Amino acid sequence: DTHRTQDRREEPLDGGPELGDPALPTVPGRFRNTPDTDVSVRANHLWAGQITHRIRCSTLGTDEAEAARVDTLEGVDAAITAALEAQRSWAALGTEKRALLLRRAARVLAAHRAELLEVMASETGKTLAQGDAEVSEAIDFALYYAEQAERLERHGELSLAPRPLTLVTPPWNFPLAIPTGGTLAALVTGSAVIMKPAPQARRTGALIGALLHQAGIPEHVLTLIDVPEDEVGRALITDPRIDQLILTGAYDTASLFSSWRPSLRVLAETSGKNAIIVTPQADLDLAAKDVADSAFGHAGQKCSAASLVITVGSVSRSRRFNAQLADAVLSLHVGEPLDPTVQMGPIIEPPGEKLLSGLTELGEGESWLAEPRQLDDSGRLWSPGVRVGVREGSAFHLTEYFGPVLGVIHADTLEDAVRIQNGTDYGLTAGLHSLDPAEIAWWTEHVEAGNLYINRGITGAIVQRQPFGGWKRSAIGQTSKAGGPHYLVHLQDLADSPAVP
Ligand code: GLU
Repeated sequence: DTHRTQDRREEPLDGGPELGDPALPTVPGRFRNTPDTDVSVRANHLWAGQITHRIRCSTLGTDEAEAARVDTLEGVDAAITAALEAQRSWAALGTEKRALLLRRAARVLAAHRAELLEVMASETGKTLAQGDAEVSEAIDFALYYAEQAERLERHGELSLAPRPLTLVTPPWNFPLAIPTGGTLAALVTGSAVIMKPAPQARRTGALIGALLHQAGIPEHVLTLIDVPEDEVGRALITDPRIDQLILTGAYDTASLFSSWRPSLRVLAETSGKNAIIVTPQADLDLAAKDVADSAFGHAGQKCSAASLVITVGSVSRSRRFNAQLADAVLSLHVGEPLDPTVQMGPIIEPPGEKLLSGLTELGEGESWLAEPRQLDDSGRLWSPGVRVGVREGSAFHLTEYFGPVLGVIHADTLEDAVRIQNGTDYGLTAGLHSLDPAEIAWWTEHVEAGNLYINRGITGAIVQRQPFGGWKRSAIGQTSKAGGPHYLVHLQDLADSPAVP
């Protein structure tokens, strides 16, 4: 593909790293991933030592970037009016030029990797390794949506009317990749975007805004506003001129916003309570490592995180699996996120009632394989916890805790394990560790979740390879997955168009 080769030959900005090959195999268009057994290969990884060097050498003071604070109803009104005004020429610019700006955005993000890592670490506690993957994901979103827009334009599908104004309300746990992905997707269709960063990640949000403007996206076409979460925030969400809301956050938040304005088109990726099944046919060493990574990456604060491991039959009694899991968990280096050797950083804030119960209270029949300990006075630094003996239907089986605690449940058979895995209100990610093709086939047929992973961890979905989205209470109004081939089509106004492909 000569087109893509030429793009890659563009000289890197300011000595930034070269972008890797975004050409990964296309996932067939089902609203569920073809289960992917490949080991993740991400395009743009840097080595941690290099990152800290770049952080020390970084030039852009992230303190300088601030999202405009809008505290009044008049301020919200003015931001919306200016965005709609700017959107007209943005729509007239055409897909090709907008896609070009997305490619420039990718290069600007790559050139500012160090600042992005620093601001995410200092603001939200994200470790450098996790932040690095997130910068890569943001770049991948930019390149992928540019490519998709061009493809849809060639097939005459992006000439449908854009929705004029999209509101993006991202979470604090992925404060870069998720807002960048949603924002650029809406922008490339010709929509203007108002982005409201999560209150815990204001500086990250402001830096994204500064970098996207630097890439050439006009000022009011993308507006970053920091609104309080009171009646001013509510006025933003309920303003009838907002055509759609791209939200990632708790299920309860998404349903609250929908109830405020039932006619609002909401595309929400929400909560999860995700499990990995480990059968006696698994590579138990690999399974233990993948479970630990999926449970404790970003201290368990991912919608995709493994919160349960369901051990089937003899695995539950296997000293080997439990010992490997305990080793993998207890050897995690917990500490300050800017230390490149740290594997698990602090949680976003001292645990609230729900997470505290998950970290400290045992249910009937449960005991600690690794007991969580509070490691400092901040209340934010905890050692990872693993409880065994969790029972089907118990609080731990059903509750999303969103923190560094994992539960182990025993199941007699694979059928029982899948019933337990499906037995929550959510259906975001799900994993299976088994080397038996018959078990894999049976599981794939019966599991109820948006993203399926076999013999690997269940976090870190890769743009294009693993479009991301859930079933049941893990999504609201999400008719296509982020980072997948149908996402852009669904962001447009399809009112008068024929059936969506
Ligand atoms: N897309 C992320 C992953 O695959 C999870 C996003 C989230 O936690 O909201 O791990």
